[in-house]
Amino acid sequence: MPKQIDIAKIQSALDDIASRMAGESDRGEVASYIPELSRVPLNQFGIAVAPLNGPPIFAGDADVPFSIQSISKVFALVVALGHVGATLWRRVGREPSGDPFNSIVQLEFERGKPRNPFINPGAIVVSDVILEHESGEFGRHPVLELCRRLADAPDISVDEEVFASEVKTGDRNRALAYFMLAEGNIKGEVKKVTESYFRQCSIAMTCRQLAEATRFLASGGEGPDAEIAGVTPERTRRINALMMTCGCYDASGEVAFRIGLPCKSGVGGGVVAIAPSVGSIVAWSPGLDEKGNSVLALKAIEELAHGLGWSVF
Ligand code: GLN
Repeated sequence: MPKQIDIAKIQSALDDIASRMAGESDRGEVASYIPELSRVPLNQFGIAVAPLNGPPIFAGDADVPFSIQSISKVFALVVALGHVGATLWRRVGREPSGDPFNSIVQLEFERGKPRNPFINPGAIVVSDVILEHESGEFGRHPVLELCRRLADAPDISVDEEVFASEVKTGDRNRALAYFMLAEGNIKGEVKKVTESYFRQCSIAMTCRQLAEATRFLASGGEGPDAEIAGVTPERTRRINALMMTCGCYDASGEVAFRIGLPCKSGVGGGVVAIAPSVGSIVAWSPGLDEKGNSVLALKAIEELAHGLGWSVF
C-alpha cells in the first residue's frame, strides 16, 4: 500500500536542498578516468522524487541528462533475473565486496565469481547472461529498452561520446572480463560483452526520468511499474537488499548508516535511493568522493530522508 505523502512539504524540502547545494563549495571531483565524463561542469545539482501515486516532484537541474553509469547495473540485473531467475547466483555472489568497484584482486582469490552484481565484474557477468538470451544488437539494448518503458520516455538514449570514451579507456574492465573468461564465468566474446556493458553505462537520463524508472522498486513488487519490470514482491525485496548492502561499492555500509535506504550510485554523479511504499529519490551532481560516489547527491538524499523520516530502519 502506498503511504500518504505531503507533496507541498516534499516540494519545499527539495527547493530548500537545491538552493543550499547550489552554494556548496565542497563538491568533490568529476570522474576523470572516463575522459568524456571529465568534461561535465561541476556546478550542477538536480533532485527528483517519483512518488508511487502522483507525478514527480523536482528541483534544480532535474531535467539535465547525465550518464547513469553504474546505476544501469540495477536495470541489467532486472533483465538478467527475468531470463535466468535465481540460477544467476551460481555465477555472481550477493556479498558486499569492501573493495573498489573495479578491483581485480578479489576476483582472483575467488576464482572468477564476482562478489555481487553491482561491482564491475558482477555487472559484466550480468551483461554476458543477457547476451546469451538476447542478440544485443546496437540500438536495441535491453537495458535501454527497459529504461524507456519504465520512464515512459522513448527518447532516452545512449550518449555515443561517453560510450566511445569508455570503449577506448576500458582496459581494466576488459581485463576483468578476460580473467573471468579464463575461469569459465564468461561465455561470450569479451569484446561484445564489455561493449554491451559500456553501452548500458552510457545511457543518459535526467533525475526526473531516472526517478520514474526506479519507482518500481518502491512498489513492493505490485502495480503497473512492477509489471513492466517483470518483478515479483520477493524479487523486489531482494534487489533492494542488494542495493542496501552493495549499491555504493566500498562505501555501502557508510551510506546505509547515513541514509538508511537502499541506494545505487554511478560515477556520472547520480544516486538513486528507494523509500519503500513512498517512491524513488534521485539526486545528481557530477563531483565524486574518493570512493566514486557523488558528494552532493549523497548529502542531499541524507538531508531529505532525515527531514521526512524516510528510512527502512
Ligand atoms: N562505466 C564505469 C566503469 O565501468 C562504471 C563505474 C561506476 O559507475 N562505478 O568503470
